[in-house]
Amino acid sequence: MILELTAEQLAFKKQVEQFARDVVAQRAAFIDKSGEFPSDVIRAAADAGLCGITIPKIWGGGGRDYVSYALAIEAIAKASATVAVSLVVTNSLVAELIAHAGRDQQRERWLRRLASGEMIGAFALSEPDAGTDAANQQTTAVRAGDGYRIRGRKVWVANAEGAAVAVVFACTRPGLRGQGVTAFLVPMEAPGITRTARADSLGVRGLGCMDLDLDVTVADDQVLGRVDQGFRLATWALQGGRVAIAAQALGIGEAALAEAIAHARQRVQFGKPIASYQAIQWMLADIATELEAARMLTLKAAAAKDLQEKSTLEASMAKLAASEAAHKAADKAMQILASAGYRRGSTVERLFRDVRATEIYQGTSEAQRMIIAAKVLGTA
Ligand SMILES: Cc1cc2nc3c(=O)[nH]c(=O)nc-3n(C[C@H](O)[C@H](O)[C@H](O)COP(=O)(O)OP(=O)(O)OC[C@H]3O[C@@H](n4cnc5c(N)ncnc54)[C@H](O)[C@@H]3O)c2cc1C
Repeated sequence: MILELTAEQLAFKKQVEQFARDVVAQRAAFIDKSGEFPSDVIRAAADAGLCGITIPKIWGGGGRDYVSYALAIEAIAKASATVAVSLVVTNSLVAELIAHAGRDQQRERWLRRLASGEMIGAFALSEPDAGTDAANQQTTAVRAGDGYRIRGRKVWVANAEGAAVAVVFACTRPGLRGQGVTAFLVPMEAPGITRTARADSLGVRGLGCMDLDLDVTVADDQVLGRVDQGFRLATWALQGGRVAIAAQALGIGEAALAEAIAHARQRVQFGKPIASYQAIQWMLADIATELEAARMLTLKAAAAKDLQEKSTLEASMAKLAASEAAHKAADKAMQILASAGYRRGSTVERLFRDVRATEIYQGTSEAQRMIIAAKVLGTA
């Protein structure tokens, strides 16, 4: 498939690249060093139309296609992986899910504000014993009056520091795993939500990841979609999220390649720039080729989502290929910069740490391989 971008997609890409250079890149090192959730940058991103990119215009979003969304996330990630993934969570895992499954009253209450960036969202699926095995939900939602009492513990909730609303998944029919999970829309300030441990992570350090202790009562109108059908919604949201994480990985990989090229051109050893040595050239050639191959898969997955085709396989392939290509790009960039890259505070050192998360969140590489294998074996 040869994907030609439209004039509108190209113009949006250019506009986001400019924003990424002028605003996001200026703050990337500080976000990494301080680990502070970048509320001001997210607000600026909202003003630039990056919080409800694919949300229909009637709900206050940008009404753009998934290809445009992927291009935007790649551009932002090239400047800051943290800002990019924060935007992925609020766009794909919260706003798109409410647009897809919410009732109009929920869209009025939450979606408009998410799409405008007046607020951002969080997605609370993972638990201490439900990581890759996300269907093993131990958080329970038990009928209480006209609603539900949700009790349990969620871990690694990205954006938790800045979010106003979370999609919380809980077990409504014990023993049925994915067939008995319900999604709820829960205001983060609701009594009974306690933000506990803040993750001190290797990379994407300003993501505001926190654990949540829950003992919270919600009304029936806070059920997102249908009771017991929440796990399907989680997998639906993660399909879009994986395309966006593939784009995030590409952005990180591109940044690593740019650093490697610049260094190889200017660093002289044995009287010549190291770019003149074949060992270095081959590393650059491999990085560029693998990132380009991953970009094709990512755009294909985004285009499949635009065509409303079922894109489970494409999304998993894109995430797997892009995250592993970007990991290799950061690793080889470190090799090319050597001590200059290994120094704490260097851009390559940040990219090297940031990229690792793309092989873990929204399904590990092993989880993507399980999905792909089940598809190719016809067992899915
Ligand atoms: C920075 C960051 C942000 C995150 N943000 C969020 C968020 O916003 N919301 C949220 O809900 N979660 C979030 N997570 C959690 C993330 O989704 C999980 O970490 C991920 O799904 C893996 O789960 P785990 O860490 O428990 O690993 P485990 O599931 O314990 O896996 C450990 C290892 O075993 C492998 N493994 C597990 N099962 C199998 C199997 N059957 N076959 C082969 N290999 C297997 C895994 O691939 C991995 O290599 C975040 C995580 C990180 C690091």
